[in-house]
Amino acid sequence: MHLARFPRVRLAHLPTPLEPMPRLSAALGGPELWIKRDDCTGLSTGGNKTRKLEFLMAEAVAQGTDIVLTQGATQSNHARQTAAAAARLGMECHILLEDRTGYNHENYRYNGNVLLDVLHGASIEHRGPGLDMNAEMDAVAERMRGEGRNAYAIPGGGSNATGALGYVNCAFEMLGQFNDMDLEVDHIVHATGSAGTQAGLVTGLKAMNAQISLLGIGVRAPRDKQEANVFQLAEKTAEKLGCPGIVAREDVVANTDYVGEGYGIPAESTLEAIDIFARTEAILLDPVYSAKGAAGLIDLIRKGHFKPGERVVFLHTGGAIGLTGYTHAFDVAARA
Ligand SMILES: *Cc1c(COP(=O)(O)O)cnc(C)c1O
Repeated sequence: MHLARFPRVRLAHLPTPLEPMPRLSAALGGPELWIKRDDCTGLSTGGNKTRKLEFLMAEAVAQGTDIVLTQGATQSNHARQTAAAAARLGMECHILLEDRTGYNHENYRYNGNVLLDVLHGASIEHRGPGLDMNAEMDAVAERMRGEGRNAYAIPGGGSNATGALGYVNCAFEMLGQFNDMDLEVDHIVHATGSAGTQAGLVTGLKAMNAQISLLGIGVRAPRDKQEANVFQLAEKTAEKLGCPGIVAREDVVANTDYVGEGYGIPAESTLEAIDIFARTEAILLDPVYSAKGAAGLIDLIRKGHFKPGERVVFLHTGGAIGLTGYTHAFDVAARA
């Protein structure tokens, strides 16, 4: 495994910190909890897409791209980090935003990630729900190429084998931290959506024979579909790295019991997770991804899923800027 063989632009503040969560561990009375702070990757309020974009944007640079396209839901963290990366590299950025939740609140439509998309100079067009958004984006990119632009299209969430290299790199980084700190880790838990994060992690962990269980908490698709998506991408990632077949189907485990009503719609357990993390560790979670992942972590601890004495690392994938797009979900006026 030799990541330096792949083109990469440096966009993230790395390594991100690995920190203990003593007050949360005590509050839950469960295993010893740690947090890997990929919310602190630095680029325009950070998040997990920055690591993927280091490899994706390097491909765009190598191709002489002048405009980068991507797509996501209205409050997409991926779109915001792509807009920021494009600004850093002097490229234009065009974003297709899908109205996936039906929310019409002003903050949802214009605050949070959308505000930052605009500040980074991205152009935006909108789509209704339920379309094949990657196909919509590819059609726009094709049209731009016909107009003489050198367009580079990044799939939703930056989740292809190139983007997943960013999370192979994170697996290396984490294992290095565990070893340096004499920290024996049993489980890593994180939110899983477009699959690139989990696919990269599982590939990197297997390649190093880390023997750490990895659990993705789903935010959208049912379990079978989520695990199949992650596995398929992990196979492509392993192939790209020159170690085909290293990930077995049973290495890919997702729990999708914490999605609630659907993507981008916080459940009661999502809001509870945001409160608990904010009050015990002063860590901000986001209502679409990291708080659903944390809700799964909290519930599984309460159910005794982890053995006494085990050590669990929660990978914080970022997104807290999205909180300002979700003020409607919190009863702020009654509490402020
Ligand atoms: C995109 C995202 C995820 C999910 O990562 P995938 O690689 O898409 O599975 C998790 N958390 C946050 C905050 C995200 O923006």
